[in-house]
Amino acid sequence: MSKSIADITKIIVDFSNERGWVNENPSFLLNAIFIELGELAEHYQWQSDFTKIRAANKNTRTEIGFEFVDVIIYLFRFAERSGIDIEEYFDKKMPKLAEKFKVGADHSKAHKE
Ligand SMILES: [Mg+2]
Repeated sequence: MSKSIADITKIIVDFSNERGWVNENPSFLLNAIFIELGELAEHYQWQSDFTKIRAANKNTRTEIGFEFVDVIIYLFRFAERSGIDIEEYFDKKMPKLAEKFKVGADHSKAHKE
């Protein structure tokens, strides 16, 4: 079943509200994002490409998938608490990126800046 960013955000908000987690401050949520990113990064430490990650066993891939979700949960919660609609800005940002990085142009230096 596919879910939109709004769907996922609502699930996170409902989950938080049901548990009384309604007063997270910015520092808490930012730290949580960084901590979860660190947990995700551990899986990629020393990997020069995605070969081993893609070939990892089911348990490892589940751990990695859960870390991605942990990051998304806190990131989406942080945006929602900030009054930022990620879907709205995603839709606004992508055309800007498409304009900046035109298809067929030489973007070989784009990730080296
Ligand atoms: Mg985690």
